Parts: sequence; C-alpha cells; structure tokens
Amino acid sequence: MERISIFDMLKIGVGPSSSHTIGPWQAALNFLDKLDVHLNQVTTVTVDLYGSLAKTGKGHGTDIAVMMGLRGKNPRTCDVASITEKMADIEHSKQLILDDKHRIMFDPQVDIIYHFDKSLPFHPNGLRFTAQIQDTAPISAKYYSVGGGFVVEEGEDEIHNTVQLPYPCDKSADLLVHCHQDSLNIWEMVWANEQHWRTPDQIMSQLQSIWETMRTCIYNGCHTTGTLPGGLNVQRRANQLHNSLMADATYTTIDEWIDVIRSKPNTFQDVVRWVSCFALAVNEQNASFGRVVTAPTNRAAGVLPAVMMYLVCFHGADSKAIHRFLMVAGEIGTFFKKGATISAAQGGCQAEIGVSSAMAAAALAEAQGGTIEQALMAAEIAIEHHLGMTCDPIGGLVQIPCIERNAMGAMKAITAANIALESQPEHAKVSLDDAILVMWETAKDMSDKYKETSEGGLSQHIAVNVIEC
Ligand code: SF4
Repeated sequence: MERISIFDMLKIGVGPSSSHTIGPWQAALNFLDKLDVHLNQVTTVTVDLYGSLAKTGKGHGTDIAVMMGLRGKNPRTCDVASITEKMADIEHSKQLILDDKHRIMFDPQVDIIYHFDKSLPFHPNGLRFTAQIQDTAPISAKYYSVGGGFVVEEGEDEIHNTVQLPYPCDKSADLLVHCHQDSLNIWEMVWANEQHWRTPDQIMSQLQSIWETMRTCIYNGCHTTGTLPGGLNVQRRANQLHNSLMADATYTTIDEWIDVIRSKPNTFQDVVRWVSCFALAVNEQNASFGRVVTAPTNRAAGVLPAVMMYLVCFHGADSKAIHRFLMVAGEIGTFFKKGATISAAQGGCQAEIGVSSAMAAAALAEAQGGTIEQALMAAEIAIEHHLGMTCDPIGGLVQIPCIERNAMGAMKAITAANIALESQPEHAKVSLDDAILVMWETAKDMSDKYKETSEGGLSQHIAVNVIEC
C-alpha cells in the first residue's frame, strides 16, 4: 500500500484551500513541466475547471492559484503579499508570463472556464490545462486535486509511493504491533520511517520550519484587523479576542509574546478563549491568502497550531515536544488518507476538521504521557464526534462556518485527549480503524449537496435569505 511521509500531510503553503488552491496550483506547475521544451512556442493556455472546483473555485481562489502556478511561483516560498498585485497585472494587461519566462495573451475571464454542471469521473475536483503550441499539436492534461494538496494526473495511479519502510503501516493496528514489538513511542516509529526519505537533520529542520510557520501565522492573525476578502464582509475576530486577553501587555518578539501569555491567568474560560483565538487567527490568515501549514488541509489548518500553542502556553511544551507532536499528528493523518479521505469534496467536513481534530487529539495524548493505545483512542474519540459533518461553506468562501469550526475542532481534540488519558483503552468498543472505515462509508452515503458544493445547508439557507431581502 501507499507509503506517505508526514511531510506530505503537513505542507507549508498558501490559503485558503489545499484542494482548491494548493492542488490546482501544483497541477499548473506540473503542467509547466509537461510543456518542457515547448514553453517558448506556447501561444495560448486555457484552463477548464470541473465539479467542485467550478462551483466553489472562485471563493477558494482556484483561479488565482492556477495563474500563480502558470507563472511558475512556488506556493511554499512565494511572496504572499505580492499575489494581489500579480493578479491585478494579469487582469489589466490580459497577459501572463509562463514560468516567468514566456509572455502569452491570457484573459482570466475568458481563458479560465467554469463547468458548473459537469464533473470529471475520477474525482469531483478535476481540471484540465490546454496549451496551443506554434507549429505543432496542442498539449493538454487533466489533473485531480484529491485533497490536502495532493494531485494526480489522469491515468496516473494515486498510490505510487511504495517504498520499503522499517515500520510500514496501513492502519493504526499495524502501528500498535510495531510499537509494541520494538518498544517504541509513536513518534519514535515515525522518526525511524522518515529517515527513509530524509536525514535526521533535514527532518528536524523541516519540523522546525513547520512550527515556525504555524506560530508566525497565529501571531500575524492575532495582530491583523479588518474584513476578510470575498464579499461576505466577515470581520476578523482573533485580534479583538487577543487584545481583550492581553490587556495592555507589551512585547516585541513572538517569544516574548508567548511568555506574556504564559504569565496570564489560565482559568478554564481563559484557556478556551485562547485556544479559540489561536484557531481563529490561523483561519483568518488562511481566508486572506496568508501563509499556513496544510494540516491535513488548509481549511482545517487552525486545529493543530491551536492545540500546539495550548501545549506550549499552558503546559510548557518545548520545541522537542512540539516536533514529536507533529510526527504523531502527521502519522495519524496518513491513516485517514489511506483508509478514507481528506477531501471535503468526497467526505464533507468530517474529512477536514474531523481528521485534523483526530490528528491533534492523538498527538496531545502522547505529549501528555498517554500510552499508544490512549493516543489512538483519543484520535478515535475525536473523529467519532465529527462523523457525518457536512461541508457547506457559504458563498464558496472559506469563512463561514470554516473559521469557527477550527476552534471547535481544537477544543474537541483537547477534550478527546483528556477523556482518553483517563480511560482504559482495552475496554473501548470502537477502534480508530473502525471509525475510519465508518467515516469512509458515511462519506460515500452523503448527498453531494453536503460535499463542498455550496448547494446545501447553510449556503442554501443564507443564499435564499439574501435573495428574499
Ligand atoms: S465547511 Fe469544513 S470541509 Fe467545508 S470548506 Fe469549511 S472547513 Fe472545509
């Protein structure tokens, strides 16, 4: 079966969506590779968006993502502050510089085509690029954005990474066997596996840059005011909540800021407000094309950092604990990718917030001294209470209900970890693998209305009210 690195589950990128922004962005980069030596002969490029990418792509910035990809920009490293300017330039000039090398005529209003009533067969998130080439046949390719920023080309098998790991795991039951056989914690097993792909130094440095990105994102979100883009006029709230918690404290660096938070009262209500604030901050940044870490998706990117910051601020976790947390969380995420889905277009919100909550719950339980069984139990409790949760982002934007859902997912993770830490897993009736299987069965039974189409639930209700007004 497929072998997935934790760094495939935790990717530094740009908001607002891993499946609708990062995936199409990566698909455009892959298409540039396909153009290869023909790049300088390209005369036009058209992009066809299908299914969920057509229905909610505008709100998720799919159009922006494919243009950034065609420009050859890397979502991990590009200057996010310059995206608006680059888009305005294309809009105004009706030209695009392919891979930053070759200028073509490109009108986003004409050359990005939304097929609202058509889906491609393999997955609801399909897109096709077609390049007309001077003096030779056009080059065309279809891609599917299958969740969490993963992309497959039509005809390509999604399961292609079949390397031999020291501890291969298809399910959480495999993890239990390996850990017990070799007396390992979950993070130790992951550490051994990851060395198949990277050196220890590379693993440490990548874990640290993920954490730096997460905490910078929280910090920036807590210090930004205003309204989110997209037309819903959603006010940012993390800043207000943050300011009321911080009162008149002063600080000049993120480390000093964390020290101030640590020194503040931490009643139950304070902790709930802080965790909510951290999650809101990340997802407000995500909704405004900020830099976030996909975990396992962008729209659920606030859950892990909120729980990690909770661990840092209220339980004194150091960077070693944070790195271990990321390894456990990433590994749990892989079980959902292999056994179910992390795509809301396939599984609704249980596949995004539900999975991120399960990842955080297991990692928190192990970080707080839980056994392997308790960590897996925490993940099972967290996903169990997200089963069947629908995806219906109002207006196709990643704002309502998405931003608050991250706060809820973080709190459920903390609750799940605490319940598991006080439980005897040998008495549990449902395993994590059972819950993942049920999540997948539920996903297949759900109406398409509730899988990221903005055609049901809150979206439909609010749209009707708006029209009636
Ligand atoms: S409702 Fe949930 S699954 Fe849907 S876009 Fe929002 S966070 Fe993602």
